[in-house]
Amino acid sequence: MPQSGIIDERMKTVLAKHFLKIARAILLSGQRPLIRAGSFILIVTLTLLTQVGGVVLWLVLSCLQMGWGSWRSSWQSATLIVGGTYLIVTIWAVPAIAPVFGRVPLVCWGQQSGYAPASRLYCLMNRHYVTPETKTVLEQVADSMTGVGPVIYLDAGFPFFDGFPLLPHLSHRDGRKLDLALIYRNLEDNKQVSPAWPLGYWAFAPVDVRDRACPDGGGVLRWSLDWLQRSFEGLELDRVATSGLVMSALNPPNVRRVLIAPDLKRDLGLTDNRLRFAGCNAARHDDHIHLEVR
Ligand SMILES: [Zn+2]
Repeated sequence: MPQSGIIDERMKTVLAKHFLKIARAILLSGQRPLIRAGSFILIVTLTLLTQVGGVVLWLVLSCLQMGWGSWRSSWQSATLIVGGTYLIVTIWAVPAIAPVFGRVPLVCWGQQSGYAPASRLYCLMNRHYVTPETKTVLEQVADSMTGVGPVIYLDAGFPFFDGFPLLPHLSHRDGRKLDLALIYRNLEDNKQVSPAWPLGYWAFAPVDVRDRACPDGGGVLRWSLDWLQRSFEGLELDRVATSGLVMSALNPPNVRRVLIAPDLKRDLGLTDNRLRFAGCNAARHDDHIHLEVR
């Protein structure tokens, strides 16, 4: 065989060997079945919760399996590598790439803005991405609430792709939906409280009421969490501030509608026909309001 033919054959052998190694690493096929199944469940869970977490975990596990680390000897070091990579990707890479998909991050860490996340966890989970128009609406709402306190946002959207739902909110899939926390008062010292607790959801108002809109319980994504309501017994809805928030949310002309529970709408004395009921198959909207922007 001529010299060049021998080299070609060797190249093909080397490439085939590497291709096989990479494919095995991508499929995590070197792992024991239980660990492999656990890894895939974790990848799917992280994708559903954070959109990019599953990809980060998959890439790191594949790289480690290819020998770029020693995860077999220490699960602690593998966890540190995955966690560190996720933080780097979330803090630096995702905000830089999101504009390509028409998304921008809401302010998370700055003290200067008139709005803030209920918890930094929303930002660390990449659930604070919206279209630039939606961000402008939030800024306008925050401006009109100056003097009342920062407007607190909850779930917004993921950074990449239209149509990728932000569970458990099936409609938060295009960067044009945004949830805002209600405003409460502490019964002991009358101080304003928003959100009711770091997650912001499930403090139903008026506090400790049943799901009056859907007494039969509604769909699977409609959670009442009765056991949690005792934690909010020291709070009452600040009706003046909350109705001010809802009116401010309706002010920007490109707000298409605001979802709110019918009882809460009546309780606040609001009548605007862009205030709508989400229906019994959606989450309750007497613990937050939901904005939709054109
Ligand atoms: Zn929503």
